[in-house]
Amino acid sequence: MIRQRMLKFKNRLFRINDEEPLSKLSLCVIIALDLFILFVVFQGLDDHTRQLTSPAEYVPYECREVLIQNNWTEANRISKLQNLVLADYNNYSYQYTSQFESSRIQKMHPVCREFFKKIQAISQDKKILDLFKTLAQLEVKKNQFTSGFKETKDVYDTSLLENIAENDTKEDKLSSISSSMKDKEQQIELFNSQILDIEKQLNAEDKIKDLWAFIQSEDAARRDLLIKDFKNSEFRYPFKELLWQMLFLLPLFILFYFWGVRSVAKDAKLQILISAHLIVISFIPIFFKILKTVLDLIPRHFFKKFFEILTALHIVAIWHYLVIIASIGCALIAIYIIQNKIFNKHRLQLKRLAKGKCYHCGKNLPPHATSCPFCGADQQRNCPTCNQRTFIAGDYCARCGKPLES
Ligand SMILES: [Zn+2]
Ligand SMILES: [Zn+2]
Repeated sequence: MIRQRMLKFKNRLFRINDEEPLSKLSLCVIIALDLFILFVVFQGLDDHTRQLTSPAEYVPYECREVLIQNNWTEANRISKLQNLVLADYNNYSYQYTSQFESSRIQKMHPVCREFFKKIQAISQDKKILDLFKTLAQLEVKKNQFTSGFKETKDVYDTSLLENIAENDTKEDKLSSISSSMKDKEQQIELFNSQILDIEKQLNAEDKIKDLWAFIQSEDAARRDLLIKDFKNSEFRYPFKELLWQMLFLLPLFILFYFWGVRSVAKDAKLQILISAHLIVISFIPIFFKILKTVLDLIPRHFFKKFFEILTALHIVAIWHYLVIIASIGCALIAIYIIQNKIFNKHRLQLKRLAKGKCYHCGKNLPPHATSCPFCGADQQRNCPTCNQRTFIAGDYCARCGKPLES
């Protein structure tokens, strides 16, 4: 039964009708169309979904780090701030969007918005920006120097050991290494003092003082509010995302569905074929997205106990088996519905009969023809009740009116 239906459906997808199988080339064109449309639909879905505010956009990572985890300390805050302030300066890629883009700031939680606006003000201050650039340069130079210094120090240490072991005098070599080490040490000291100086200047800037005050005001209520709103956003987002995506996918599916129904009614073979493909193509992302949401949500929000038991027994795999079985079931149901509601062969045959066409190939029959001159299909058979000739495609005998068994 299911096998037969699958076969029929396969026929819908791969041939115009039983007598006119698609040429290989036409099939290639249609499959290329399928792939292209599938690609466009997924791409469109992505762009469409990006308009939603995700939890990570609502409370950005940096905002969480500063105001929830309290990770910015006096020791590291300048370098953390430096990363944010110089982000626009260091990222020149075309794909890069600034953290301070107004559309991004608009999506944020009010508290995070305040935080990012303060940083934006800092990064727009030419004097501060230049100080940060100099600081970054100094750090690069210092790091290069420090690694060179370590190498020299290693050489010095081994030479010193050799010297003791062999009791040999390599005074010249040792002293030259030692003096170059002293130079380097001094140079690193110089870098350190320059860095400290710039950090002092930065900390003296009003805008930065204001930011430190904003971060340090140990506002427990603010932290609680942020956590609550972030959790809420995380909880609601999957539902919102699914609804939003369906808003994009369902109209497309409905459009192709009605096109399919109309093509069947009009018995337009090529349109039936293409609409059948498009119905499948537009159904794939719907199926995919619903499945993904259900998979994401069920372990996290429902049946928590059930999952704890599965995890404790190390049989979480069972859940995935269930999911695979359920998705096969859903696909079968979907194909059954498409087959019965839209591409029902019996209904199509009745329509052809009503219009005086061959029930098999759909071409117009000459009056009183009992066989089709185009495909050779018999149009009539004997009624099992009255044994007189009647139409094969009909539900009832044209002579006695008794139902015909199919
Ligand atoms: Zn025919
Ligand atoms: Zn009859």
